[in-house]
Amino acid sequence: MKVAAFDEVSLGLIGVSLMAALVALLLMMRERWKSARISHQLQVVSSEKRALERGDALTGLLNRKGLDMALDVMASAGPHGVVVVLLDHYRRLRQAFGQEFSDFVIKLAAQRLGSCLPPGATAAHLEGGEFALAIPGGKSDLLEVAELAFQQLALPVQSAKGQLILAASMGVATAGLPEDRGRLIEFASLAAERAGTGLNGEGKICVYDPAFAEEARAQAFFLNDLREAIENKQLRLLFQPKVDAQSLQITAAEALLRWQHPVRGNVAPGVFVPMAEAAGLMGVLGRWVIEESCRVAANWRAMGLRMRVAVNISALQMQEEDLVDHIAQCLGRYGLQPNRFTCEITESVAMQHTATATATFERMRSLGLHVSIDDFGTGYSSLAALRRLPASELKVDRAFIADLEHSEDARSIAASIVSLGKALNLKVVAEGVETQGQCELLMMMGCDELQGFLFSKPISADEMTGMIKGTSQDDGPESLPFSESLFMNTTLSNL
Ligand code: C2E
Ligand code: MG
Ligand code: MG
Repeated sequence: MKVAAFDEVSLGLIGVSLMAALVALLLMMRERWKSARISHQLQVVSSEKRALERGDALTGLLNRKGLDMALDVMASAGPHGVVVVLLDHYRRLRQAFGQEFSDFVIKLAAQRLGSCLPPGATAAHLEGGEFALAIPGGKSDLLEVAELAFQQLALPVQSAKGQLILAASMGVATAGLPEDRGRLIEFASLAAERAGTGLNGEGKICVYDPAFAEEARAQAFFLNDLREAIENKQLRLLFQPKVDAQSLQITAAEALLRWQHPVRGNVAPGVFVPMAEAAGLMGVLGRWVIEESCRVAANWRAMGLRMRVAVNISALQMQEEDLVDHIAQCLGRYGLQPNRFTCEITESVAMQHTATATATFERMRSLGLHVSIDDFGTGYSSLAALRRLPASELKVDRAFIADLEHSEDARSIAASIVSLGKALNLKVVAEGVETQGQCELLMMMGCDELQGFLFSKPISADEMTGMIKGTSQDDGPESLPFSESLFMNTTLSNL
């Protein structure tokens, strides 16, 4: 009995222990399975993360990091190089048509570039409209791919915004010295920028030359000087008169920037204005030009000279949302009227119909600023577009004036612009008038105002005052009579 009782108890205990062991085993297996599942998920996540780190989500191509890794692999395998592809006007396209369309363009370009790759090559999307192709082989292999990519990109495609033809500037760099390893993309990128400027002649594919890096360094120093000159207010304004074509009296003055570099001497605005734009310095500089022109105009007004003052507005300034507010504030501060202040905007800039530029024109119209279309005749504007602009003045490009006496074409173009101005109720100004013959031809054509070295080179505000008042020095510019602006009724109440 005792034995039986013991057996029952021990059997019961064994049963309980077995159950407990089974539960423990199950729990352990569940934990193992859970941790195996987590580690698998972690592996998936980390490989996805690694892929994301190397890849570009929009195009499925490699990104910069992935390209660096691919180039490391190629470097150990033999000769290779990089082709950088810069899509032309990508930023403008994005500003004009928005993110969705620019993403479409990037995906299309990625697909086409991908289709040009030879075996062993790979493509990456670096940023914005910039791509890079890593290609095994020498210079001729790389050039062959670049040319094929050029043709592929240029195939027209029908898009939501009409027919689209992609163009690009391309730079080619082959791996050379071991110390240049890691700088291949940078070199190809420099060459692509160079291709974009057209400095290497025809064609948009440029092969890297070590001189480019030297130039880029020199430019960086130059830019630094410009930055300092702007900060230290070392730039100054000269003024060039516009004269009435009938009476030859001064009606207005155009402000032109000057930079006297301590080593390089006079640097032309045609050189440093685009540099300032590219470096994001034009905002500050442009504001100073507006402020200073208003200050000078107010001085002239205080002397009883109601001269219209003109400033040149750059492409990037047209994209500033508060440009017109700034002009309005300056005019208010110096007590000047908006229709006495001319904004000269080149035809090519005026025809860039971005949303911000259109809004800027609208604000100019509602403030009543005097708008002039500069360098007219070179920008292919349509009549319809021209009529929509709030412009009151066309300035015939200097190139046509220079050829006036010798070229029938130049005479026809100048005469057509004068007729166009009359038809659209716009005044026509001829710039760059240098000879008596040009002056007479323009007068005969019915041009309204003239500007050029024949009358005066750009001079300081004080020299201009002296010239108008007839107090200029013997070696200074010749004295010219002054007349009020042609473009408005000038009554005493306007003073
Ligand atoms: P622009 O506004 O078309 O100015 C006319 C240019 O022609 C000026 O050159 C002027 O000095 C020059 N010029 C005037 N009359 C004659 C002439 O009879 N013969 C010749 N050969 N040249 C003449 P500059 O001062 O070198 O300016 C070049 C361009 O730089 C300007 O062209 C304008 O687009 C830009 N610029 C100048 N100042 C500024 C500025 O303050 N802001 C901006 N955004 N651009 C400026
Ligand atoms: Mg101008
Ligand atoms: Mg001009």
